[in-house]
Amino acid sequence: MKIARPDSVVESVCDAVTDFLKSPRVLIGGQSSAATSGATYTVTNPATGEVLAHVPACDANDIDLAVRAAAAAFEGPWSKMLPVQRQSLLLKLADLIEENGEELAQLETLNQGKSILLSRLIEVQSSAEYFRYMAGCATKIEGATLDVSIGIPPGMRYQAHTRKEPVGVVAAITPWNFPLNMAAWKIAPALAAGCTVVLKPAEETPLTSIRLAELCLEAGFPEGVVNVVTGMGETAGAALVAHPGVAKITFTGSTETGKLIGVQAMKDMKRVTLELGGKAPMIMFDDMDLDLLGAAAGIGVFFNTGQTCCAGTRIYAQKGIYEKALEVIANVSRSLAVGSGLNPMNQINPLVSAKHQSHVKACIARGIEDGAKPVLGASAPDKGFFVAPELFTDVRQDMALMQDEVFGPVVTITPFDDPDEAVRLANDTRYGLGASIWTNDLNKVMRYVPKIEAGTVWVNSHNIPDQNMPFGGRKQSGIGREHGSRALENYLETKAVCIAYR
Ligand code: NAD
Repeated sequence: MKIARPDSVVESVCDAVTDFLKSPRVLIGGQSSAATSGATYTVTNPATGEVLAHVPACDANDIDLAVRAAAAAFEGPWSKMLPVQRQSLLLKLADLIEENGEELAQLETLNQGKSILLSRLIEVQSSAEYFRYMAGCATKIEGATLDVSIGIPPGMRYQAHTRKEPVGVVAAITPWNFPLNMAAWKIAPALAAGCTVVLKPAEETPLTSIRLAELCLEAGFPEGVVNVVTGMGETAGAALVAHPGVAKITFTGSTETGKLIGVQAMKDMKRVTLELGGKAPMIMFDDMDLDLLGAAAGIGVFFNTGQTCCAGTRIYAQKGIYEKALEVIANVSRSLAVGSGLNPMNQINPLVSAKHQSHVKACIARGIEDGAKPVLGASAPDKGFFVAPELFTDVRQDMALMQDEVFGPVVTITPFDDPDEAVRLANDTRYGLGASIWTNDLNKVMRYVPKIEAGTVWVNSHNIPDQNMPFGGRKQSGIGREHGSRALENYLETKAVCIAYR
């Protein structure tokens, strides 16, 4: 079923979702199966805390089968397909994502907790669009012809060119905050480049990834081109990263896990892209358009209940507008309805898990203990993994609240006088993923954008990626960029070919 009107309430879960939840299985080499050990684990509905489904708990054996299946597909039918055939399959997949859009969106909201509006528009619609974008890239891979100056042996001439070749089997490891969309960010360019994939979704949110792999089969991708293996990070994830058959790892998740994966990848010289954590600043100048403050809070901070890697969680407001910014952001935060994601009127939804809820609550408690002042002090429903939004003032730069990722609906606001000092404070964390400056003065835009250490700098907006805009982090926010046609390079090797002739 296609997505319903994005802002419509889910009155009853569709039958396809109920059926799927009875027995989700992994997909290896085109076969739907349980874990070889038979083990399962439970995934929960964060809005209720109740068990949603039992999912295969895969281990190194299953990973081995999946990597072998991906390698066989890479050597076999997939490598024989023309770029235009890959393009057609990716377009077909995008259509199928849309055709099954409501099922996917409901599944995501039940599993992840997020607003059905975001499930429909981001997880489903924007994923379908990303497959279409990358479908176009499949037929535009190109190398270069190179003039060379090789002068030996005498009489020999040379002509060189580069070929772009798919790197091989890709291990894609995704986080729980945008499960289907993150899977699309990885699978789409990998397939466009001609690679095959083993996807290991986050243990909390594996369901839409399984459906995506099923839709790949339905679209006509040969068996083994897309495999999905569910399980814990420390077992299934670690086994995938270490598997000798994997040529490239693409990972989105926490900086801590990213470092482990980076080290393991280097041991085997595997190619690796890491999209990691963030602690994005929003610098608001006196001359900013104050009408944008609502959007700054709603989209910049609380989008996806703050579970966004580039959420603008550190606001630095210049003294002339500080009081106004504090008032508006506090009012917006208070006005956000807290409740189940199945009702799109609820803008603050449950956090993904009880564990993550405890983490966010602990960050708030630590902030208070360290001397920061909570402005809102609101409470959230007891049932489910909810945390009400919180806004802090009096936060010192060295506090954990300012330095560490909370990944929930928590924001700090700090006044500043001197713009250069604001930029220095904005850069003063280990992260460098996203940032924004808010001003109507073009001179400030031109002066300060180059000084901000972040992979993306938004001006008068925040937290809005686009498929054609490179996305990734500096410093400990990661290595490499996703999105944009150049994202294909992450999945291609460059081969120089040098032809001698007389
Ligand atoms: P996480 O690092 O705990 O887990 C991410 C994935 O890694 C999961 O699939 C997990 O099973 C797997 N994993 C865990 N340990 C592993 C190991 N030892 N070997 C291999 N795989 C392992 O992160 P999370 O809590 O799921 O996601 C939240 C984090 O992701 C936040 O830090 C957030 O900022 C980050 N994130 C970054 C971006 C970005 O584009 N930069 C986007 C979304 C989320």
